[in-house]
Amino acid sequence: MNLDFTPQENAFREEVRAFIAANYPAEVRKAQDEHREMTREELLSWQKVLAKKGWAAPSWPIEHGGTGWTPTQRYIWSEELARADAQPLVPFGLVMLAPVLYTFGTEEQKKRFLPGIYNGEVWWCQGYSEPGAGSDLANLKTRAERITADDGKDYYIVNGQKTWTTLAQYADWGFFLVRTDPNAKPQAGISFLLIDMKTPGITVRRITTVEGGHEVNDVFLDNVRVPVENRVHHENKGWTCAKALLTHERTSIAEVALSKRKLEKLRAIAGSERNDTGSSLLADAFFLRKLTELEIDLTALEFTELRTLADELSGKDPGPESSILKIKGTEIQQRLHELALEAVGHYGTPFVPDQVRNSGLIPGCAVGRAWDYFNGRKLSIFGGSNEIQRNIIAKVVLGL
Ligand SMILES: Cc1cc2nc3c(=O)[nH]c(=O)nc-3n(C[C@H](O)[C@H](O)[C@H](O)COP(=O)(O)OP(=O)(O)OC[C@H]3O[C@@H](n4cnc5c(N)ncnc54)[C@H](O)[C@@H]3O)c2cc1C
Repeated sequence: MNLDFTPQENAFREEVRAFIAANYPAEVRKAQDEHREMTREELLSWQKVLAKKGWAAPSWPIEHGGTGWTPTQRYIWSEELARADAQPLVPFGLVMLAPVLYTFGTEEQKKRFLPGIYNGEVWWCQGYSEPGAGSDLANLKTRAERITADDGKDYYIVNGQKTWTTLAQYADWGFFLVRTDPNAKPQAGISFLLIDMKTPGITVRRITTVEGGHEVNDVFLDNVRVPVENRVHHENKGWTCAKALLTHERTSIAEVALSKRKLEKLRAIAGSERNDTGSSLLADAFFLRKLTELEIDLTALEFTELRTLADELSGKDPGPESSILKIKGTEIQQRLHELALEAVGHYGTPFVPDQVRNSGLIPGCAVGRAWDYFNGRKLSIFGGSNEIQRNIIAKVVLGL
């Protein structure tokens, strides 16, 4: 693996850096600086800019709108996005559903759904987890029964409950795992359905999380009528789609470039904060040790990611190694949040950014640190908990 960037790659870095600086939406930057929850439009506006440029989905195949960048260019791209503190794009359509559609979908489904995902016009949510099916996802109970209606068309009638559905309050459509054969083995009786969230019988109910945000929801499906043509892949083969999607989701959760940027900011906070004796936290051996250990682990993860990119260059899929990236990436993000909170000390206590932002009561670097800490507890749970990822590594990677 050659770690030196070529002159062309350095020129590419300059190009993307200049583009981001000139085109990043000012209203999104303002919302980020104010640490406030963004509106649906704000969350989509950066993607709309990138879609116009043709850069919204670098990893997609070129025929569907991908950039054709090499893995190294994609790495540079993610580094530059993190460097500019760019808001991550909403992943449900772009990162999760699209690869399932272009791998398993019909031509009609690709034509119908991929453009809306690419342009940031249609918001998708992920309806996998249920109250009794999280880690044990194959145990899901939401039932879809096939009928022929009076109009002569075939539909599924869907009944059940999904939970922890992220940002379903904004969703136009959802991709759902449903049970189409209750008599088959758990994994064998599941289908993958695309459901219009405006269909009668769908209720979205807010779940308030520990930091006070509205990020997740319960979704109730009560006799929801879904045309059969909205099923992706064959009936009862939804588990194949579900697994492919989770591999993409897990790889994206690692966020190495973002963590490098957070580490840089943490160093700046540690350099400016003073301990009780008036010296910088960077001179505090206990703090410095934790910071340095974190930096070493992050560098190791970066090399693991680079190895994955090198494999991709030679045509190999990340596969179950995505579980390693997910575990280490999320643990590092959580340690970064913990250390940032420790660095600002008591100033971290009032954690609702809206109420303290302009109060002058705490230094700017402390605003949002406790929010990050509480919100970041989810990282080791969603996308399949880290314990489950360890089980996957034991079984599939180590063959235990
Ligand atoms: C903020 C957030 C957003 C989410 N967004 C979505 C979303 O948009 N769509 C969606 O479908 N889901 C979403 N999820 C759900 C997420 O995927 C599940 O929470 C996760 O899979 C764990 O399932 P569970 O919550 O039912 O916990 P459980 O499965 O009940 O697990 C509880 C604990 O037991 C451990 N455990 C369970 N089984 C084993 C085992 N075999 N070996 C070792 N340990 C085990 C788990 O690691 C965990 O610590 C979200 C979750 C969160 C927290």
